[in-house]
Amino acid sequence: MKVIFVGAGPGNPDLLTVKAHRLLSQCQICIYAGSLVSPAVVALAPEGAELHDSAGMTLDEMKIIFSRAQGKDIDLIRLHTGDPSIYGAIREQMNSLDKMGIDYEVVPGVSSFQAAAASLKTELTAPEIAQTIILSRTSGRTPMPEMQELEHLARTQSTLCLFLSVHKIGSVADELAGYYGHDCPTAVVFRASWPDEKLVQGFLSDIAAKVEKAQIKKTAMIIVGPALSRDLPVSKLYHRNFSHGYRQSDSQKDET
Ligand code: SAH
Repeated sequence: MKVIFVGAGPGNPDLLTVKAHRLLSQCQICIYAGSLVSPAVVALAPEGAELHDSAGMTLDEMKIIFSRAQGKDIDLIRLHTGDPSIYGAIREQMNSLDKMGIDYEVVPGVSSFQAAAASLKTELTAPEIAQTIILSRTSGRTPMPEMQELEHLARTQSTLCLFLSVHKIGSVADELAGYYGHDCPTAVVFRASWPDEKLVQGFLSDIAAKVEKAQIKKTAMIIVGPALSRDLPVSKLYHRNFSHGYRQSDSQKDET
């Protein structure tokens, strides 16, 4: 018997991995994060499967379900939104499983920052402009380590993807404007890939007002950075004079 931490992806069941889909549609016991995992994904569990919403549960309560599954020798699916390795709080569950002598594995999922980029039809990197993507959040009940406060991240001028922070979009945009400029492209994606997805696009100067108008208060990704602009130097990768391991440039061909 083992516990399988499964990435549920951002919401749309089409974005599950083949493995996640298979495990879910065959599962007998599943604990899912009801506050975030979409009902359309949970619905893939077969009729009669034992489903538990972790939203109202403590770790101790979860451990009781782990040990029941252990007693019955049935694999347990632990469903986490997006990819389990990002703000998934899987570490403490794994520590408990180690103590209980229960084996576990992880199935990765499409993270919400990726789904948000896809919905925006954007590339998060741009040659000479942004070669780094930062996944972060603002402090809530979980304080930020000092060197990872927004101002330090902003100094890098990377593309910023902020989780768990849309309720603070006003102060986030104000602070970032000091580093990225008021005219920096900014987007907020509410429930990327869900049927009620909302895309809000603007600049650091106007994004907060637009987000308020759209009445977005949670489950949204904030993406900030010049890479979001379409009007940038293009990648050399497909340029005719750029050769790489798989393709000779036109100028090289001329030489041969
Ligand atoms: N492990 C998840 C993140 C969990 S933290 C992942 O990889 O995506 C929860 C935060 O993720 C939310 O506050 C929101 O910022 C973001 N999020 C989760 N699902 C989302 C979605 N479908 N669209 C936009 N943001 C989402």
